Amino acid sequence: MDDSECVRVAVNIRPLITTELLNGCSDCITVPPNEPQVHVGSHTFTYDYVFGNGGLPSLEIYEHCVAPLVDALFSGYNATVLAYGQTGSGKTYTMGTNYGGDGANGGIIPRVMENIFKKAEATKDSTELLIRVSFIEIFKEDVFDLLDSNSLPLQRNDGVAHAKNVALSRAPIQIRETDGGGITLAGVTEAQVKTKEEMGSYLAKGSLSRATASTNMNSQSSRSHAIFTITLEQKKVGGEDILCAKLHLVDLAGSERAKRTGADGMRLKEGIHINKGLFALGNVISALGDERKRKEGGHVPYRDSKLTRLLQDSLGGNSKTVMIACVSPADTNAEETLNTLKYANRAR
Ligand code: ADP
Ligand code: MG
Repeated sequence: MDDSECVRVAVNIRPLITTELLNGCSDCITVPPNEPQVHVGSHTFTYDYVFGNGGLPSLEIYEHCVAPLVDALFSGYNATVLAYGQTGSGKTYTMGTNYGGDGANGGIIPRVMENIFKKAEATKDSTELLIRVSFIEIFKEDVFDLLDSNSLPLQRNDGVAHAKNVALSRAPIQIRETDGGGITLAGVTEAQVKTKEEMGSYLAKGSLSRATASTNMNSQSSRSHAIFTITLEQKKVGGEDILCAKLHLVDLAGSERAKRTGADGMRLKEGIHINKGLFALGNVISALGDERKRKEGGHVPYRDSKLTRLLQDSLGGNSKTVMIACVSPADTNAEETLNTLKYANRAR
């Protein structure tokens, strides 16, 4: 990755899943051999990478797209991995956000964890390393701490979390900008971890907290962005300088349009809010890809949503970003698949 390519885009096509096969869906995506291209109907799109054409993609995705970001993290650069796509397209599966859950252990985050501790072990004689994690969710333009035990949904006497209480018991946290232009979250839980297992336990805890809130709030998880952040502080043994960098691993909200989310006013409002983050992200990434704009120090609209504000110091500039656009190959999803491919195309 050189400087002119601060954002790379990969498409990940999952296989047809059982329900799609049972419903008689057919595969509407073709990938030409040896080209990072995707054909849907009469449309052709070209990306930096295309994965999932029959193979087992997750190791390849890690090696081609994410390993360079982990290297960058150890060199002191911020980095971001974004999984984009409609609900059911494989974002959570690909990221491995739902750690310990169904098939997710081979995902990107578990591989990142493993490799970070491998690297830490390899440099431990020369470098003191401090590793911290945080796990937050952005829902309806509010940021929530998934590692804060106090923000877990309250249970009713019958054991069912009450939707109203869920909303009341979770206090949103504020995004702050430091003098140096860094972004921090006021009061967010930053857990210091020493092992891969410890890091995994925080990932699992946050996933559980997200899932618990979601079963009681109209599958909130498909309409919220989940961000697992690994912060690295390095100091050479005997040295003074501290090298600090963070890697955001983002499982974005479903990209499907609000009209699919439901007709009642409340849910529609939620749908619009989530589109705000994805819309702003598309504009930011598109502005970053516009070389002329970047060279002239042009306007990158980070402030248009909580998502882009939060990622501001880790998108563009010296940081490295990979967007993985996840798609279902089913013909019944062709319209949303095309929307995703167009969004990802804009990001290049
Ligand atoms: P999303 O997070 O985008 O809503 P999920 O990651 O939950 O989507 O995936 C939807 C379904 O597809 C799940 O049942 C998941 O196990 C399955 N799935 C996703 N990606 C793959 C894949 N690469 N191989 C096999 N099954 C997959
Ligand atoms: Mg998901």
